[in-house]
Amino acid sequence: MIGQMMMMIVGNIKEMRQKIIKNLKKEERIKFPKFSFKVYENESLDLTGMTGTVIDDEQSNITIELDDEKYKETLYPNNCVGFSPPEHENLLVEVIDPGGFICPECGSKESGEEICMSKEPLSGKNKNPWASVLQQVECNDCKKIIPYHLAKRLDNLSIEKAKEEWVKLYRKGSKKQKF
Ligand SMILES: [Zn+2]
Repeated sequence: MIGQMMMMIVGNIKEMRQKIIKNLKKEERIKFPKFSFKVYENESLDLTGMTGTVIDDEQSNITIELDDEKYKETLYPNNCVGFSPPEHENLLVEVIDPGGFICPECGSKESGEEICMSKEPLSGKNKNPWASVLQQVECNDCKKIIPYHLAKRLDNLSIEKAKEEWVKLYRKGSKKQKF
């Protein structure tokens, strides 16, 4: 019984993370289902399972920058695929990251004050990982200070990895670092 309920909940979460192409928003990161993207009359790219970031969400042209560069010559110069209605506008993709601030501590999407450090990055061996964090942002809910690159998941960092790094490297030393 409980097992069944769990299955239903997991199923719902999975559904919530699916979105049709035309409803995607800028900054969202997505994963393609089984899908072949036609570029020329007789050339198609297999995008199955590939991931990317929505860089333009204009209704007339949803643009997704691919993470993988294996088609970069075909998609020169920006490694992007574009979707204009009505073609593919109802294709269902999986949203793997909604973009924007996400607190790796409590999961909140409410960001607070951003802090830029003016210090020089320390060179050489410094055991404190915070020493090289120049941009930080406060979580509005749990009030923890989070390194910006984790809160915004720069360089295609996954939500899971950001959380992992946070716990492993930064949580212990988290505090407002006045300068
Ligand atoms: Zn938080």
